Amino acid sequence: MQSLVEKIKSEALFIPSAGILKVDGFLNHQLDISLLESIGKEFFKRFSNESPDKILTIEASGIAIAVLTSQHFNNIPVIFAKKFPNVETNEKTQENPEFFEASAYSFTKKTVNKIRVARKFLKKGEKVLILDDFLAEGSAALCLVDILKQAEAKLVGIGIVIEKGFQEGGEKLRKLGLPLHSLVIIDKDEKDRLVLK
Ligand code: 5GP
Repeated sequence: MQSLVEKIKSEALFIPSAGILKVDGFLNHQLDISLLESIGKEFFKRFSNESPDKILTIEASGIAIAVLTSQHFNNIPVIFAKKFPNVETNEKTQENPEFFEASAYSFTKKTVNKIRVARKFLKKGEKVLILDDFLAEGSAALCLVDILKQAEAKLVGIGIVIEKGFQEGGEKLRKLGLPLHSLVIIDKDEKDRLVLK
């Protein structure tokens, strides 16, 4: 996706000490709708053979990506998992009758979020496409995969806008045989400068 690569090159700010790429100007705060439309089109190209029934993402930045992608799939429903921050990882909970739940470690905020999706929106056998803005350590994506397993829904793809190749998420997901497509993979060189693949 050349337009995405150009946008990252011209506007993204890489903070090497934190390993974080700031894309507030087009993806995470202000939204570039033309770019998001192209991203939606590209995800459609990559996943149209899978005919998903629904898209699952995670609040907040995944929502716009999911909505603009849904438009190419006949406006299939978009579900965004909700985050409940600062929940202890070892917290023992009984199965929640209303929600599917999983825990995700937030790489950017260094907190554990409980992630929830209402059971009524995910049904057994539904074909679901997972979308998100970034892939870092893979915690958010694996959490969404876990929720689909709980629902006995069928994962048909994982679409990521920016994968950070210098973190482990991509390798983890591919080793598990998950159907991952990243639009751009960024790496860093020995001088901590960004390298786009
Ligand atoms: P993971 O769960 O794969 O470690 O991290 C993915 C999630 O963390 C994404 O949903 C994204 O919101 C956030 N994230 C991870 N790395 C970055 C980054 O470099 N920049 C931004 N803006 N968000 C990131």
